[in-house]
Amino acid sequence: MRRAGVDIGGTKCLGVVIDGTGSVIEETRLPTPYGPDALLAVLEQLAGDLQPYDSFGVGAAGLVDRNGVWRAAPNVGGVAEFPIATELASRLGHPVGVDNDAACATLAEWQVGVAMGATDVVMVTLGTGIGGGFVVDDQLVRGANGFAGEPGHMVVDPNGPPCVCGRRGCWERFASGSGLTRLAREAATGGRLVRVVALAGDAEAVRGEHVEWAAREGDRGALAVVDEWAWWVALGLVNLTNLLDPDVLVMGGGLAGAADLVLAPVRHHFARLLYAPTQRPHPRIEMAALGERSAAIGAALLG
Ligand SMILES: [Zn+2]
Repeated sequence: MRRAGVDIGGTKCLGVVIDGTGSVIEETRLPTPYGPDALLAVLEQLAGDLQPYDSFGVGAAGLVDRNGVWRAAPNVGGVAEFPIATELASRLGHPVGVDNDAACATLAEWQVGVAMGATDVVMVTLGTGIGGGFVVDDQLVRGANGFAGEPGHMVVDPNGPPCVCGRRGCWERFASGSGLTRLAREAATGGRLVRVVALAGDAEAVRGEHVEWAAREGDRGALAVVDEWAWWVALGLVNLTNLLDPDVLVMGGGLAGAADLVLAPVRHHFARLLYAPTQRPHPRIEMAALGERSAAIGAALLG
């Protein structure tokens, strides 16, 4: 069994073929072009490169409805209201499964990754924003329209900083990778991050990796920012646990490489914020296992 999947991201399209166990046996990538026609041509080329395969699926960043229409693509230029599933199927001459990239990543971590064997899974990808996906009672949750799994826009502070969605204090303003940068710049401007600012050059240039480097050196200011960020991450994870009662919470995205720094404080704050912590089993909190290929692997599992 060879299943092919492509993850369409803002800068690149990553194609993989997986075997029956979910292991990647082929991999290829091309830059993401502008507009639907050029994108179809790139997908057709990737499909050719990945042949032979028994099924084909696509993961796409943004809102993908249940009919495989890509309604909105904030990170992919020139794409909106694009019936990608039917147009690609007619080009390739076979059916194509299409879903949101974070839903694909969730499917992959659940079926062949760190959450294998669980019946209820929450996955959050902490990047520029926060994407997510949920497995409830052994089913990937899609929602009435296919738009379920946007935990980044839970409001956790109505008086908080403005969000791209037009409201204030969404979870992703605090707990994403860019949320870490924002918390760090606030601390840097307040004079609390001398070492981090030295690494970055100046307070405005501070990014997450400067906090990570300084925290690895044991810098107390940097560790305090990581701890503050971990509290916000844990707050959202507890909200999601109250809604969904998962076995496993999976954290993916750019911070997966900093597992040694972030897992312990997130687990610590989670246990303190959890509702009725002594009356229930605590869900496991894990880092994603499949890295940047998770959405492409999940796309392959769709097909
Ligand atoms: Zn928002």
